[in-house]
Amino acid sequence: MLVRGEVKCLHCGYVSGTWVGAAGTPLRRAGFTPSPGAPAEAIPDPLRCLRCGGPVYLESATPVLSSSRLQRIRQLREQLDALDLRRKRRSAA
Ligand SMILES: [Zn+2]
Repeated sequence: MLVRGEVKCLHCGYVSGTWVGAAGTPLRRAGFTPSPGAPAEAIPDPLRCLRCGGPVYLESATPVLSSSRLQRIRQLREQLDALDLRRKRRSAA
């Protein structure tokens, strides 16, 4: 399962950015988006606080739907819309 959350420092509480990745895996650079204005010249891997270099954790992690799942949902919605349209045309005739 994919999760998204804020990368927060255990020492100073600074939010370096957001991270998306598999739940329970180490916070790596892949999947990391620095906060606007964060010093993002050299992003440590695994992630550390961009302000003080302290250890970070994922705060308020929420599940994320994978792109293939989102695509499937979009396809099903299109099929439902097409079905509705066909029904409307049939009832109008
Ligand atoms: Zn820090």
